[in-house]
Amino acid sequence: MAESPKTKITTVISDFGGVLTTPLLAAFAAFQDDSGISPEKLGLAMREGLAEGEEIPLFKLERGEISEDAFIEGLETGLESILGHRPHLHHFRQKFWGALHPNEEMIALMHELKASGLRMAMLTNNVREWEPLWRSMLPVDEIFEEIVDSAFVGCRKPEARIYELTLERVGSPAGACLFIDDLQVNCEAAEAAGMSAVHFRDNAQAIGEIRAALG
Ligand SMILES: [Mg+2]
Repeated sequence: MAESPKTKITTVISDFGGVLTTPLLAAFAAFQDDSGISPEKLGLAMREGLAEGEEIPLFKLERGEISEDAFIEGLETGLESILGHRPHLHHFRQKFWGALHPNEEMIALMHELKASGLRMAMLTNNVREWEPLWRSMLPVDEIFEEIVDSAFVGCRKPEARIYELTLERVGSPAGACLFIDDLQVNCEAAEAAGMSAVHFRDNAQAIGEIRAALG
C-alpha cells in the first residue's frame, strides 16, 4: 500500500491547562470544597446581567481586556444575585492553582518530542496575572520555542486569528502542525486552520494518538 500523501509533521503546538496540567475540573472541585460554590454557579454568575448575545467576561479576561481583579469583582456581583449574599472570591486563585499540578507524563512527552527535533510551541488561553503561576509548573522555555498567550496577544482560541498568529510565529505551514487541546472546539478551529489535531481526553489516549500522528 502506498503511503497517504500527508504532509510530515514538523511542529507540535500544545495547549497548557488540562493538557500539561492535571484536569481543570479537579481544580474547580477544590475551589468548591473550600467555598461551597460549584462550577455551575460560577458559570451562572458569569452570565448574570449579560445582554442577549454578549460574551462572558471570561473571554475578555483571556484576551487581556479586563484585569483578574475586575473579573473576580464581576463574579462576586453575579454570585450576589444568585446566592443572596456577596461572597469573597479573593481566594479563588490560591485554591484553583493549589489544586492544579503538572501533568508529568505529558510534559515528559513534550521534552521527548523537542529532543527528537520537532519545533515546539504552546498556545494557551490564559490570564495575564497568572503568567508566573503557570510558568512555575514546567520548564516552559526549555521545551517551547514559541509561546502564544491569549492574554498578551488580544485574541483567544477558538478565534481564527490566534491560530494564524501562531502559524506566523512558528513559521511552519499549517499542514505540518499537530495541535493538542483538551477542548474539542479548539481542536476543530485548528483543523479549520489546516492543522492536524489531537483532542486530549487522558494521557494514554492522547499520547497514543500523538505518536500515531507523528508516524
Ligand atoms: Mg485546555
